[in-house]
Amino acid sequence: MSDRHTRLLGSDPAALADAAAILKAGGIVAFPTETVYGLGADARDDRAVAQVFAAKGRPAFNPLIVHLVDAEAARTVAQFDDLAERLAAAFWPGPLTLVLPMRSDAGISALVTTGLGTVALRVPAHPVARGLLAAFGGPVAAPSANPSGRVSPTTASHVMAGLAGRIDAVVDGGACGVGLESTIIGLDGPVRLLRPGGLPVEAIEACLGGPLDSAADPDRPVAPGQLASHYAPKGVLRMEASGAAPGEVFVGFGPGGGDLNLSPSGDLTEAAANLFRLLHRLDEIRAGRIAVAPIPERGLGRAINDRLRRAAAPRG
Ligand code: AMP
Ligand code: MG
Repeated sequence: MSDRHTRLLGSDPAALADAAAILKAGGIVAFPTETVYGLGADARDDRAVAQVFAAKGRPAFNPLIVHLVDAEAARTVAQFDDLAERLAAAFWPGPLTLVLPMRSDAGISALVTTGLGTVALRVPAHPVARGLLAAFGGPVAAPSANPSGRVSPTTASHVMAGLAGRIDAVVDGGACGVGLESTIIGLDGPVRLLRPGGLPVEAIEACLGGPLDSAADPDRPVAPGQLASHYAPKGVLRMEASGAAPGEVFVGFGPGGGDLNLSPSGDLTEAAANLFRLLHRLDEIRAGRIAVAPIPERGLGRAINDRLRRAAAPRG
């Protein structure tokens, strides 16, 4: 698995045609989305999907999100009720994943859904992701393009650092704009938040006209794979820090510095876009102990704190 040549592709139409040809031949290709880089495989091809799990070292019980070019393609995979239609109309393309009852004729590999009767779907907004999905012309299963349990990649070089030699290609489309994984909403029963992410919960609540129940409890993984320890840098991380203890690298937020700073102006959108790049940077400088300033628990701050809590959790 670790002796493959990994091609670094551009994001022009000829490169996307090459990437689509690799997917059609059953290969696995990393590509940029507005959230993080995904590691894509033909979602209908058991052997291709199995390679994604193998390359990442991902536990087989952790299902994958299926990426589609538009809502029409998504309706061929899952059953959409009125609520699903409303959320799709409001937020697709974009950083929102919907877990829906799968159609019996969907043709999706059981490895993708880990045999659940539900499927997680997303229509990404990134032009390179959309270009690849259009060139491929089918559903692409794609988890984040990083070794399982480690920090998600927001640049092609993060992907190369984690997976070179284990995947067929990386499409380089620059840095991801949102920088956090998608928000996941479960619609296979009472509507609930399965994972906070790149679409603020407040925007979804405004669309639904009421508060959203949360199942995003790190100790009770309702969404399989939402394990407590995840998204982890190699060092030990502490949150809500007012400053650095001796030997700690301090990650600030807002004015007041820090060895690194998520957003000197205190902007949560900027902090989200910077979070994983800074966590990768902490690995590069071999930070053994990390202290992170408090992040407000609103908007994208909820997803940032969710990722930091997992990064700070005891490693299992
Ligand atoms: P990742 O691709 O690493 O961002 O992880 C995708 C996540 O989507 C999984 O860890 C699950 O939490 C969630 N997910 C995918 N499919 C389902 C499903 N059918 N039901 C519930 N959660 C799902
Ligand atoms: Mg992931």
